[in-house]
Amino acid sequence: MNQVPYHILRSKLINGEVSLSNLVQSYLNRIEETRHQNIYLEVYQEEILEKAKQLEDKLAQAPQSIGRLFGMVISLKDVICYKNHQVTAGSKILDGFQSLFSATAVEKLLAEDALIIGRVNCDEFAMGSANENPWHGPVINGIGTNRVAGGSSGGSAVSVQMNTCFASLGSDTGGSVRQPASFCGITGFKPSYGRISRHGLIAYGSSFDQIGTLTHHVEDAALLLEIMSGPDEFDSTAIPSSPESYGKISPLAKMPKIAYFNSIINHPRLDPFVKKNFIGFLEKIKSEGATVEAVDFDYLDLLVPTYYILTTAEASSNLSRYDGVRFGYRTPEAQSLEETITKSRTEGFGKEVKRRIMLGTFVLSSGYFDAYFVKAQKVRQIIKSATENIFLNYDFIAMPTTPAPAWEIGEKTSDPIENFLADIFTVQANLAGIPAISIPSGVHEESSLPLGFQLMGPRFKETQLLNFSAFLQHKFL
Ligand code: GLN
Repeated sequence: MNQVPYHILRSKLINGEVSLSNLVQSYLNRIEETRHQNIYLEVYQEEILEKAKQLEDKLAQAPQSIGRLFGMVISLKDVICYKNHQVTAGSKILDGFQSLFSATAVEKLLAEDALIIGRVNCDEFAMGSANENPWHGPVINGIGTNRVAGGSSGGSAVSVQMNTCFASLGSDTGGSVRQPASFCGITGFKPSYGRISRHGLIAYGSSFDQIGTLTHHVEDAALLLEIMSGPDEFDSTAIPSSPESYGKISPLAKMPKIAYFNSIINHPRLDPFVKKNFIGFLEKIKSEGATVEAVDFDYLDLLVPTYYILTTAEASSNLSRYDGVRFGYRTPEAQSLEETITKSRTEGFGKEVKRRIMLGTFVLSSGYFDAYFVKAQKVRQIIKSATENIFLNYDFIAMPTTPAPAWEIGEKTSDPIENFLADIFTVQANLAGIPAISIPSGVHEESSLPLGFQLMGPRFKETQLLNFSAFLQHKFL
């Protein structure tokens, strides 16, 4: 049922072919059936059934007044605030913390009669690429083997993959929406920095973070963007221009010009079957009349180091607020304020989060500030300009979403560098603040694991990116 795009589901809900209560109940049943995949941290069972009834009444009494997302059931990554519900960033340090307000994006969904079904697992503070959460355990990909879901929005991706909800909100700081989407065979979309308010999104790297969507269909990502985008008095980086009607996918006026990087095709980390799938997909696009050309991009190997210097620096600052005093977990052991802070943080953060706080504190420390932080800021500008230059001649940049498909649970846990390097193709969009999408591009010939095709577009050109991606999805999948 929920494999269909929303406009089809909506007409069935409106003409009575599908009852909303039954639909919600079927999602709740799916959640039960998929418990072993460790997707949900909390399910709002009673509440959503109650709300479904209220919405059914609304439909019966005032059908003209129903919202644009009537009956769309959504899961939230555990970094997005929902008023009077727990939000913990998948961390012990926020254990038991309840949000006093909803994220602006969530407010906007609710105002259009969407329903929130629960809070899903993720990497702690959205730091990671596998969703092997130290407190809650790994999310298990539904592809049938013992594979990671990808991260950090792994719970979001699998919640959609397994049809436990219609769509999910994730967050994308360096690929956390696109990478798990590609590992799970669904669509992951990250808008331009500033397109959707970050108010109520727990901060990791504030100059990189964006809320993004995980859906089966590009057109649903477009609809959700239309609803969630726009200015917000609570987030000065949310750009003031009024939202466009992204939801209206239109036929292409002309075929685009697409660039891809020679340095990616020849990259030693690129799995040969991922390469084959990518080149094959480009060929199909070419046969539709698009121009596809290889270009030089000299900064590929600077992307991951620049990203990890800047995001850890921002994280070390953002996470300093978790002190055992104001939010969530407090150690029962301490005798003094200093001990409260030290012990609460020691006990409340997992290993990866501690590693990043230390890395970030190091690159910001007085002796190393210029050598690392300032230098990385300069390199970020260079990467941004080089990326923008490509868009002077091309509509999109294409690349595989990831250099290899989903790995086995536990395979990379002991090697943080291996994890960092898996982000090589996704971090550029966040460094440059541009929109990017991953759509399914078939499977890996040897392992049959799902693969993703990534397109990036110029900043704030979501409409053309979504239109073309929807065209590809309809044409090839
Ligand atoms: N894997 C990347 C990281 O660990 C991306 C995370 C994200 O986008 N939140 O930083």
